[in-house]
Amino acid sequence: MNQQATALVTGAGAGIGKATALAFAAAGCDVVVADLDQQAAETVAETINNLGKKALPVAVDIADQGAVKALHESIMSEFGRLDYACNNAGIEGLQAPTAEATLANFDKVISVNLRGVFMCMQAQLRLMQQQGHGAIVNLASVAALVGFAGLPAYCASKGGVLQLTKTAALEYAEHNIRINAVCPGAIKTDMIDRLTHKEPQAEKQFAGLHPMNRLGTAREIADAIVWLCLPGASFITGIALPVDGGMTAR
Ligand code: NAD
Repeated sequence: MNQQATALVTGAGAGIGKATALAFAAAGCDVVVADLDQQAAETVAETINNLGKKALPVAVDIADQGAVKALHESIMSEFGRLDYACNNAGIEGLQAPTAEATLANFDKVISVNLRGVFMCMQAQLRLMQQQGHGAIVNLASVAALVGFAGLPAYCASKGGVLQLTKTAALEYAEHNIRINAVCPGAIKTDMIDRLTHKEPQAEKQFAGLHPMNRLGTAREIADAIVWLCLPGASFITGIALPVDGGMTAR
């Protein structure tokens, strides 16, 4: 692969984003480690530096338009290019059935998971169009493909991410920019720990949603994301790739 490639990962301070930032570095990329949690971003960047790769930690709230603009400007001033972008930052929000869910929670989840991803994609597509190439992977979810009771805003946001992905894939296919989505099943991260409250019975229930009868690992999602960015996936755009232990085959 091109040794000079630069990869951006949002929400790279923990979980799937952290594993993806490390996987991009292992694949030879310099990495922009963007997260709401500055300390977490700095720690991941330090780990990447120790692997001999350049990493730029950036504290950013992807729901903030000015912060998203500043993030992409800092990438260009530091690296002068953006080859790969993984729009991973997302939140699950509060759990409640549709009639009981609050508008405040709906707005919050949509503003991070959907509007935030949209703003990041806009900035990335403008840069990638100028340089004449690029690949973007958005984090959707199996919750974009099937419903999950108690998470209406989350499911709506992830369904929206999938449609943003497909639309942009059509728009930029001729510009040498590929845009894909991954749809993870339940992955062992802080997000799942918050949903299960770390109760073994609840975790077992989540594991049982997958024919493989286990949770996925952040590394398994990271590997799919990096593969979708690299030349091995050069004829793939606009897909929603389930990485879900067979859940959506049922
Ligand atoms: P996580 O909660 O473990 O980590 C998320 C990271 O994103 C944290 O470091 C957090 O600080 C950061 N973040 C949150 N809001 C942000 C914001 N507004 N701006 C910038 N950074 C922000 O989550 P995870 O499990 O690693 O999930 C990552 C992505 O994968 C999310 O989009 C999630 O919806 C999706 N996903 C997760 C699962 C799962 O089971 N864990 C399944 C399907 C999809």
